[in-house]
Amino acid sequence: MRETDCIFCKIAAGEIPSKTIYEDERFRVILDISPATKGHALIISKEHYANIYELPEEMAASAMVLAKKLAAHMTEILQCDGFNIIQNNREPAGQTVFHFHMHLIPRYKGDGNQEKICWNHLELSQEELEDICQKLS
Ligand code: AMP
Ligand code: ZN
Repeated sequence: MRETDCIFCKIAAGEIPSKTIYEDERFRVILDISPATKGHALIISKEHYANIYELPEEMAASAMVLAKKLAAHMTEILQCDGFNIIQNNREPAGQTVFHFHMHLIPRYKGDGNQEKICWNHLELSQEELEDICQKLS
């Protein structure tokens, strides 16, 4: 399944050229065109799933195993000092390309980004924490 107007479907199918660093039957891994750091890459599913909600469980498992392998490989080759794996879902969470992908971001001491890719910290009461915990458990 693919969507005709989806740029990542076209990249995954090889119809739009990309800097591909890995490919198998399920995924293509490319360098991000607007990278956070040197080596920033994207694991892109070959089939079109808009986000993690649509992604089948076995694809999610394979994506995470691939992310782990590539984190080790890229860290060795690029000699980076740390590594972020980030995956955005839907617009309020920062997703801009609505085809499932995972960001692999090598991190270097003093690379100019905040160490922690970043969120504000809420101060919630014990009651609010308890309420959320009960709803989710
Ligand atoms: P997200 O904001 O999580 O949806 O991430 C989308 C990412 O795709 C961004 O980091 C973009 O820089 C990257 N991107 C968009 N178009 C291309 C492209 N043609 N080739 C490589 N990366 C792209
Ligand atoms: Zn797509």
